[in-house]
Order: sequence, then C-alpha cells, then structure tokens
Amino acid sequence: MSREKEAVSLDKVAAAGQGPSDGLRKVVAAGQGLPDGLRQIGVAGQGPPDGLRGIGVGGQGPSDGLRRIGVAGQGPPDGLRDIAAAREGPADGGSADAVAAAAKPVIGIDIGGTGIKGVVLSPGGRLLAQASLPTEAARGREPVLRTAEALVLELLERCPDAAALGIASAGRIDAERGEVVYATDNLPGWTGLRLAEWAERSFRLPACADNDANAALLGEARLGAARGLADAVLLTLGTGVGGANLAGGRLVRGAGWSGGEWGHAVLVPGGRPCNCGRRGCAETYLSGSALMQDAAHRLGRPSLSPAELERLLFERDGAAQDAMREYAARLVLFLANLQAGLDPAAIVLGGGGAGSLPAWRPLLDEALAAEGAARLRVVPAQLGALAGCIGAALMAAARLDGGRDGQRGQEASIHEAGHELGTTKEESP
Ligand SMILES: [Zn+2]
Repeated sequence: MSREKEAVSLDKVAAAGQGPSDGLRKVVAAGQGLPDGLRQIGVAGQGPPDGLRGIGVGGQGPSDGLRRIGVAGQGPPDGLRDIAAAREGPADGGSADAVAAAAKPVIGIDIGGTGIKGVVLSPGGRLLAQASLPTEAARGREPVLRTAEALVLELLERCPDAAALGIASAGRIDAERGEVVYATDNLPGWTGLRLAEWAERSFRLPACADNDANAALLGEARLGAARGLADAVLLTLGTGVGGANLAGGRLVRGAGWSGGEWGHAVLVPGGRPCNCGRRGCAETYLSGSALMQDAAHRLGRPSLSPAELERLLFERDGAAQDAMREYAARLVLFLANLQAGLDPAAIVLGGGGAGSLPAWRPLLDEALAAEGAARLRVVPAQLGALAGCIGAALMAAARLDGGRDGQRGQEASIHEAGHELGTTKEESP
C-alpha cells in the first residue's frame, strides 16, 4: 500500500521541478550529440537535488568513481558512450553487460498515481530520451493506458529502434507474468491488469513489468547510489514509506509479490494508527509527511514545507533540530533492524524526505553513532524521480539479453559486480 503512495510522492517531487504539469512534455533528446547524456537529466531540471546532478559531476558522496555513469566514457571519439567500454574498473563491465548485450536501445516507463515517466536507454546505459505525462488516474484505467501509450509512442518516435519495453508500476506486481496482483485506488481498476501483455500487444515489443520500488532499487543498484552492490535496501520516505530489497544480487519480491513493504513493519507497538489497520507502522513515524507534521507541531505551526524545514535546519534552529533528531533516532533504530536481518552493503534513502538529507546528515550520523551503527552505509538515492523507469528499462534489456530468463542473467551480473566491489570495500576504513 505504501508503494502506491510512494509513487505519488515521488511524482510530487518530480513535479516540483518539472514546470508544466499538463500536456505532453517534450522528450529531451539528451544523448544526441551531447557529451554527457546523464548530466542532461540534471540540467533538464527534473526536480530536487536528486543525485543525478551528482552523477553528472561525479563529485557527490564517497570516492567511488564507479558511480560516475555520465562521465564514464569521456573521450570516445565516436561520441558513443558505452559504459561497457569505460575504464572504470570491473564493476562497470559487469553492471552494463545486460544492456550492452541487448545492443539496442530499450524503453522504460514508470506509472505512478500522479505521473507517468519514461526514458530510453542506449545499449551502453546512456539516457537517450525522456518524457513524462500526468497520470490523471481518477479518469480510470483505460484513459491511463492511453496516456501511457502516447508516452511510449512519443519515445518510439524519437528512438524507433528501441527493442523492448519495461514497465514499473505502483502496486503489487507479479513480475513473472507482468500482471498487477493488487493496486490501491491511487490507480483505479489497476488490480488484475496484465501490463506486459498490454504492452506487447500495443507496441509489438517484448515487455515486462515490476513494482516501481523494485525497479527503482534495480536502477540505483546498476546506475545510481548503490552501483555495483549485490546487497542493498531501498527505503523511500515520501507520503508513505516504501521499499525494496536486493539480496545476493536478486530482488527479493516475496512469495506474494509484496516484499520490501517496510513501511508496514511496526516501529512503535501500539503507536499511531496506520491506514493498513494496524498501529505503530514505520510509515506513521518515518514518512516525509509524518516528519513534516511532527516538526510543525514542535515549531508551533499549523504546517511546514520540506523547504522550510531544510532552511531551519541549515540555520540550526533548535526546535527544528530537536524534531529532526527525534526522527533520525527512530529512523536509525529501524535501519539497524534492517541491517540485522539483511546486512545490506548500503541502505539507499529515496523520496522527498531523503532529498533534504544534506541538511540533516549530521543528525543522522549522530543517531547512527548512538545506535552503535556508525558503519551502516546510508546513502541518498541518485536517480531521483527517474529511478523507476531507468530500472524498468534495465529489466527490459535483461529480458532481451536472456530471453524469458533474462532477469536471472541480469541479476547474476549485479552479483558478480558486487563481489568485485566487495574486495575494494575491505580496503576502505
Ligand atoms: Zn501500516
């Protein structure tokens, strides 16, 4: 349930920086003739300080140059920026194998409650085009599908040789069948929809579908904040709290396709009522919305915007810091529990709450130290609002590469990359 809500919040984040919210947004032909396709995403103004800009400049976070997708191929005279050809160490080759082997561009789209976003990735993992449209979910399933169709056709017009389509969607998705097992009313009529079948029929392309948080984590694990890691957890702190797990190089989708629903793990027994019917769920304390309400309460205000909170934190406002300190302590308790169960190499924080991480990083580090979890690597998501469609495109590429079993091949390459990275990890402090 939280995932649907998360999709909404991500879309809000995206909308914040995207200007016009109606009408067909023009595809950004990012890669054509430009030296750095991914940098173009940042320049395109896709919203918040989402690490994509970081990828472009390659300067954010730890010194793992592996993260610098956009810079990966600097110099090739043919302008083709093939990650597989980049000289960035072993993880690159591994992580780009599936895309490179597909040898043709692939499309990924992400259908959320507020917006539908799409990208085309080159065989080398470069962003060739992007576009988005408002979902207008209230109009019902068929209009939403027509909107998705218009978006894909626009992308196909720009990149006619695109060879496969991956779909990330809010809801619980059977990734084997490409079918929506359950979705909330954020996408009315979505439950039971055979997404992959619809796409194959509509575009005559091989297609696959998965949950949006799973796709986002895959994107982050291949081209973003958790690049090259085989074990990572994504937690999205938005309207709700969503998430996904990558363990041993594989997405852990669960027996009923609802793996990663961390928002409904109980953090405070008998605590706040949750919309799932239980009390004390993590999302009632850790969502971006919960944080804003708590902070507003402490500051004696009726409401507070994320930007205001961020500013107050930078100004070292006492009440704002107290609110954030309390939030960070709860979050870290939760993260430490995740670590105990899954031992991820990194926990990627996404959603609106993570966008302002620089403003509260010191408080997070303080809380990590207090919990005895200072070694826990917590990183902000880098692909921002595009993580889901980038991940979906990567899934489509992997299917092309390995047929119906493509997912397995793709995840194996993540696994290998993770092992390779693991050897360097031990050298770092
Ligand atoms: Zn709940």
